[in-house]
Amino acid sequence: MVSNLQARDAATVLHPYSNLATLPSQGSLILERGEGVFVYDVDGKPYIEGMAGLWCNGLGHGREELVEAAAEQMRRLPFAHLFTGKSHDPAIALAEKLKELAPMKAAKVFFCNSGSEANDTQVKLVWYVNNALGRPQKKKIISRIKAYHGVTVASASLTGLPNNHIDFDLPLPQVRHAGCPHHYRFAAPGETEEDFATRLAAELDALIEAEGPETVAAFIAEPIMGAGGVIVPPATYFEKIQPVLEKHDVMLIADEVICGFGRLGEWFGSTALGMKPDTVSVAKQLSSSYLPIAGVIIPDWIDEALTSQSAKIGTFGHGYTYSGHPVAAAVALKTLEIYEREDILGHVRRITPHFQARLKALGEHPLIGEARGMGLIGAVEIVADKASKRLFDPKTGMGTKIVGLAQEEGLIVRAIGDGIAVCPPMVITEAEIDALFDRLGRALDRAEEWATGAGARAAA
Ligand code: PMP
Repeated sequence: MVSNLQARDAATVLHPYSNLATLPSQGSLILERGEGVFVYDVDGKPYIEGMAGLWCNGLGHGREELVEAAAEQMRRLPFAHLFTGKSHDPAIALAEKLKELAPMKAAKVFFCNSGSEANDTQVKLVWYVNNALGRPQKKKIISRIKAYHGVTVASASLTGLPNNHIDFDLPLPQVRHAGCPHHYRFAAPGETEEDFATRLAAELDALIEAEGPETVAAFIAEPIMGAGGVIVPPATYFEKIQPVLEKHDVMLIADEVICGFGRLGEWFGSTALGMKPDTVSVAKQLSSSYLPIAGVIIPDWIDEALTSQSAKIGTFGHGYTYSGHPVAAAVALKTLEIYEREDILGHVRRITPHFQARLKALGEHPLIGEARGMGLIGAVEIVADKASKRLFDPKTGMGTKIVGLAQEEGLIVRAIGDGIAVCPPMVITEAEIDALFDRLGRALDRAEEWATGAGARAAA
């Protein structure tokens, strides 16, 4: 039975990433408030926010300091823009802070409102800069199968998931997709992680050679793939990939939208994974998601190319009304201040072994083919048969079933790729981690009962 509010929701709100056919009868989970790692629905039922919203709410709910930072900025200067030579202190201070934290020698920051916009900006920068550098043929961008880089036309093209392309006439013709570094799914029988990484690097080399290195401009990668299934690459993957990129003068774009600002116990996932990026996309935990803000951090050589092109043509014609929005920038600055003051990265490092131990223990469950993760992010891969790694028939709706059962147990998780993801607020305590995995374990047990009983057969 859907409530009146759920019926109004289904009748009016067009939901992103939702099954628009089944939503009206199932009803949305309608949240009302949050406190710490908990959110409460309109009936007052508490849930552990096992996904930190959409991998973004690092500090959890109820941070008065962030509310105050926003209110203060709203009183002083609620809006100002960065177009045509205007600026304001929050944007300047935030750009300075991001330069200081960046995983490479950074020159400047271009502000956006979302991860998709940041990656869209990356694509435009690559094209614009290569025009400026007098090599207009060097335009192709290589992403990877199962990558997630957003939903704008360019960032959805970079995304390597079929439902971002099918029905949308994507990807753009300048985009290619290389192999996914998921050993469990894509390694050959008996292939070690090391050999698998070597093979992926060789395949990338062959792909660039086949395209023509003079046509390939950039390679984009999340340190750990998020929405594609929380895929942690082999330890030597980036170490092997990077010389191939250098050989062909292909720049490396790090999509730090999920991994950035502490998720892996470092300011940037690049540092944790041994990536040496040329440019970086940031969003989500930059403001702990209290307000939308994102950015692209660029090095000197891109800045110089942009400046020289501007000298020739008079303007850099890209930017959003809300690029560097002062209220969002003030909240982001306060967020970074709290991360430092409360040593949130240290907390993540200290709590990670417990989180990962509880996650990996789920690998014993009959429904779980692989439990994987790093830092405070992880996923369990749901299989119908552990030995053959066979997946459930998608018609069974197993992922959705588990998410629904977890919700009944008071836990929010997300079905992604072929598994269930967990990515709690970074402030989570050991006791809350235990509660999270106890609830997920119960949901999996109930899903298994359902799968072996009449439920799954009826659904199939
Ligand atoms: N990149 C990555 C790695 C992401 O996970 C996401 C969003 N989940 C995006 C880009 C797109 O960000 P947004 O939804 O803010 O546009």
